Amino acid sequence: MYERILVRYGDLTLKGKNKKVFIDRVNNLIQNKVNNEFVKYERNHDRLYILLNGQDHEDIIKSLDRVSGLSSYSLITKTEKDLDSIYKKAIEVVTEEVKDKTVTFKVESKRADKLFPFTSQEISKKVAREVLLNTDFLKVDVHNPELTLHVEVRQDAAFVYCKKIKGMGGFPVGVAGKGLLMLSGGIDSPVAGYLAMKQGIEIEGIHFESTPLTSIESAQKVIDLTEKLARYSPRGKIKLYMVPFMELHEALLNYIPESYNITIMRRMMYRISEKIAKQNDDIVLLNGESVGQVASQTLKSMSVINDVVNMPVIRPLSTYDKLDIIKLSKKIECYETSIKPFEDCCTVYVPKKPTTAPRLDKCIEFEKKFDFDKLVDETVERTRYVIVSDTEHKDITLEGLVVREVI
Ligand code: ATP
Ligand code: MG
Repeated sequence: MYERILVRYGDLTLKGKNKKVFIDRVNNLIQNKVNNEFVKYERNHDRLYILLNGQDHEDIIKSLDRVSGLSSYSLITKTEKDLDSIYKKAIEVVTEEVKDKTVTFKVESKRADKLFPFTSQEISKKVAREVLLNTDFLKVDVHNPELTLHVEVRQDAAFVYCKKIKGMGGFPVGVAGKGLLMLSGGIDSPVAGYLAMKQGIEIEGIHFESTPLTSIESAQKVIDLTEKLARYSPRGKIKLYMVPFMELHEALLNYIPESYNITIMRRMMYRISEKIAKQNDDIVLLNGESVGQVASQTLKSMSVINDVVNMPVIRPLSTYDKLDIIKLSKKIECYETSIKPFEDCCTVYVPKKPTTAPRLDKCIEFEKKFDFDKLVDETVERTRYVIVSDTEHKDITLEGLVVREVI
């Protein structure tokens, strides 16, 4: 019935060259994600048609759900630009959509071709009348219809469709440049990564693992979450840095007073992240911090922690409510993995009274008790990465932490 998908781009308020970059990028993303040699693409001004050529539309729509920069898509059918042909298609389309249930409906028309001899309103009225005459399962309700039949008369042809499926929105991933996402195994950071990609930022991940102090399963969780995030990345792959954090972790336990432990641990994480980001041309750091969530996320803590880096730090969730974060986590299918109960370096040791108002001068004083700079540099040296793909599952629990060997 439907032979094509109409794809509508997202934020087209962009002008000139930016708009062209946006559209080229989003078209590329679509072709990579759809990855089907039989479908054809037809560009037409500010929209794209995917000609199905007999391919299953459901798979293709699932792929489109993972392309940032799209506002919506519709299964659509093309017809000649005369009323009789439009009537015929309209009847076919509604019959297919509702089968034989009784539903309320209205027709909405758009006339892009101003030479077409009827106004939008006239088209809607005529099509509605014809559809009602030729079916017996529809009732008109122009205010709150269950089904809206859309008719568009454009320069080249007319189009008929019913549903508008909402796309991811945002900007095509990659247009904004590349950032390094601090990725724990928790709920927040994968959601932060998703939102960053949705806003056009391509991501690489960095995870601090303290095996054998923490379990290998907690590192596996991060790989599993990265696999889910990779579905939104341009080539279905994300580079994930694994930082061997145990020595630093132990030094922190030995030299830093308990109440400052988490603050200074996070200062170390930030320092390492910035160094790795700079080595890899990542322009910003990203993380899942949200104001007020825990002791290290009070404004005072955030500012003292942030003090060790010069790079901008983007916190997509900084003002999000936890329930909204959970909703998004479920939507991107990370939640079930995130809530698995394996401890990571932030949960294996939880100080009884972490400070919520750390002082910068005290951090600097405590950090003088040990040569942390040297250990930070050594840890950066020993950091390895693994390429995580959305199609090939990597199981490190069986092989030990092989990621340390991959470079
Ligand atoms: P999440 O649910 O993402 O774990 P959280 O609310 O538990 O977040 P914290 O543990 O304080 O908060 O961490 C705040 C942010 O710091 C995380 O969202 C993540 O970006 C980063 N982070 C924490 N632990 C690690 C880690 N082991 N490796 C990499 N990044 C981390
Ligand atoms: Mg955490």
